[in-house]
Amino acid sequence: MQIIYLDNAATTIPDSKATEQAMEFIQDKFYNPSAIYRQGIFVHTALDNAREGMLQFLDANRTHNFIFTSCGTESNNQVFQFAVKSNKNIVVNLGEHPSVYNIAKHLEQKGYEVRYAKLARSGAVDLEHLLSLVDDKTTLVSVMHINNETGAINNIDRIAHLVRDKTKNHRCYVHVDGVQAFAKITYNLSENIDFYTVSAHKIGGLKGVGGTYYKKNIPFTPFIYGGGQEMGLRSGTENVFGNMQFFYATSNRMANLKQCWQNVVDCKSYIQEYLEKELFKILYVQNNSPYILTISAVGLRGEVLLHMLEEEGVLCSTGSACSSNAKYKYSRIIQATSLKNPEIEGVLRLSFGYKTTLAECKQATEKLNSCAKKLKAKLL
Ligand code: PLP
Repeated sequence: MQIIYLDNAATTIPDSKATEQAMEFIQDKFYNPSAIYRQGIFVHTALDNAREGMLQFLDANRTHNFIFTSCGTESNNQVFQFAVKSNKNIVVNLGEHPSVYNIAKHLEQKGYEVRYAKLARSGAVDLEHLLSLVDDKTTLVSVMHINNETGAINNIDRIAHLVRDKTKNHRCYVHVDGVQAFAKITYNLSENIDFYTVSAHKIGGLKGVGGTYYKKNIPFTPFIYGGGQEMGLRSGTENVFGNMQFFYATSNRMANLKQCWQNVVDCKSYIQEYLEKELFKILYVQNNSPYILTISAVGLRGEVLLHMLEEEGVLCSTGSACSSNAKYKYSRIIQATSLKNPEIEGVLRLSFGYKTTLAECKQATEKLNSCAKKLKAKLL
């Protein structure tokens, strides 16, 4: 059976060209980058060049540095562990991915003050509420670039600017979880953003590879101590193949960013237009990423529909895959957007990637309509 993969916000198929490009680092160039003979130096230099490339992709003004990490989750955790301070507060929001939300909760349990900004119905951060929480004791504000469940795009540059303005008399760090935006939308890092965290497997890289952009003047500290790799900020012998493959995958995405954007715009628009209106409601339309389409099969159970679609070869999600084993009955994030029953029960997320085709989306639309119709008929 042909698989139509519409769960690219969970992960993407690895970019085979990038994998091939990086292959030499698994076999011929397997040397330890810390070794001081020339084979080791060659690998070290390749990683340095890849780091330089990662900076060129996002940081035209050269205000930041970049380290490779083991995933977006590690990157987010490192930022929080660094920025948190006793007798100060940090401001996050209810829409954050568990890799931000749960480290904030953990720090709160350890006695630090954490303030939670609300989400608007659009799925974006409620900016007014967020700013009202920021004061002269705030040491970190964290806002994701694109929400992985609602697809809402936060205007991070504006938010960072306003936070900066409100905290100009003390040092407050601004962190952006860029995992769902990086190498998908045109963006260049602004000076007001101190940390921007990314993950490889959302863009054709491998699972277990991530990275952190951090402002040059920040006295950033390690989370993992050891041999001092990654400029002393992330010890552990480098995942040379994974990091190189991430660099090549990013490079391939960046070379086709506009075409890919247009393709997913077309895919999303087609599905939005041809899903039957009496079966599905489109959620979160305002200022939303074309890579994510969140819908509700109103009155039906999203999970049942998901499995019917799976039988037809269409793979999608009911929410965030990372929290599928969590304790919430409904997605914590979708609930934070004030969505209630019957809509919330029927939520499905379709997400597109660099490999998605319009032809697949046309077939998926037919299957979505027919499965929902069948399920509805069963319930009558
Ligand atoms: N942040 C967001 C917005 C995500 O969607 C994800 C993964 O789903 C992560 C962070 C975590 O990234 P990783 O899987 O590399 O740990």
